[in-house]
Amino acid sequence: MMFDTLVIGAGWAGLTAAARLTEAGQRVQVVEKSRGPGGRSATRRDDKNRFDHGAQYFTARSAAFGRQIQQWRDDGWIEKWTPRLAVLGGDGGHRDTENVQRFVAVPGMNGVCRRLAEGLECRFRSRVERLEFEAHWTAMLEDGEVIEARRVLVTAPPAQAAALLGPTHPLHGELAGTVFHPCITLMAAFERALEPRFDAAFVNDDPTLDWIARNSSKPGRSGECWVAHATAEWSRAHLEEDVESLAAALAPALCARLEVPEASLKSVAAHRWRYAQAAAPRQDGVLVHAEQRLVVAGDWLAGSRVEGAWSSGRKAADWLAGTG
Ligand SMILES: Cc1cc2nc3c(=O)[nH]c(=O)nc-3n(C[C@H](O)[C@H](O)[C@H](O)COP(=O)(O)OP(=O)(O)OC[C@H]3O[C@@H](n4cnc5c(N)ncnc54)[C@H](O)[C@@H]3O)c2cc1C
Repeated sequence: MMFDTLVIGAGWAGLTAAARLTEAGQRVQVVEKSRGPGGRSATRRDDKNRFDHGAQYFTARSAAFGRQIQQWRDDGWIEKWTPRLAVLGGDGGHRDTENVQRFVAVPGMNGVCRRLAEGLECRFRSRVERLEFEAHWTAMLEDGEVIEARRVLVTAPPAQAAALLGPTHPLHGELAGTVFHPCITLMAAFERALEPRFDAAFVNDDPTLDWIARNSSKPGRSGECWVAHATAEWSRAHLEEDVESLAAALAPALCARLEVPEASLKSVAAHRWRYAQAAAPRQDGVLVHAEQRLVVAGDWLAGSRVEGAWSSGRKAADWLAGTG
């Protein structure tokens, strides 16, 4: 069968667009290589603990996203997070901004994407390997299946989008040339409740870590679970090491910041985000190849945050809904 639109990626951008296009009456197929929705707004569970190891929270800068946030709050999809927030190390980098309202999805940061996906035609554990255009789009999946669609929306990070379209595609150079910072994330569970001086901290004076958060201080979470993000420089220098070594290397830095002995740790794990955030986020919203009815969307085209991914997804849907 021929879909109206094929959406590659089930993160904020892809699912926001897919929901809007479906609402507009299109037959939409979403294809996602991971086993569930969320993308970089990810939640990992082990037997007792739940960690938001990608996006930590979101804020609203635009009135449109503010209205959307209100709707999700009313529906019980998200809640306000009011951590005791510290800024460690005075100069440079991050500063806390007063009056910023921070929101998190419940029970994990992938919560909104999970709910959006429920009403859509999604295929998980399905990686698109190649896209070809000849009057319409043909997507070749890793498992040998083929999907045909009149339009395509690609929300994979730009390096991966470039690979899907191939080196001769007119958008290839622009996509392949977009630089992303990596981020290694540490997930740590402690045996007992700690008495930390803060629930979250921007770290400005550490070559290893730049963000620490008590995951269990977010609404709807439990346990004594912490997430720490390595700096882009540290992440780049250690990118190819195995995740066990990465966890072992980052755990002492977290314990030092929390002023607790390493022996109080119950478990540690690390995740490698090869494409975490764009080095130079753009504001165009989407990239379009009109003749091929192709749109590329994602956070990196609208500020590099959850709000940007959402607004890029909306812009993509508006464009794709208007094409013949
Ligand atoms: C460590 C970290 C911390 C962050 N912290 C924050 C924060 O605190 N606040 C904030 O607002 N933002 C934060 N962000 C950014 C935020 O996570 C992103 O802006 C947002 O999640 C991006 O959504 P997206 O839909 O554009 O892309 P993604 O979420 O990357 O979605 C793209 C999807 O495409 C899929 N895909 C890729 N290639 C293929 C293929 N070939 N076939 C099928 N599927 C494919 C991927 O698996 C992925 O699910 C953070 C990001 C990271 C990594």
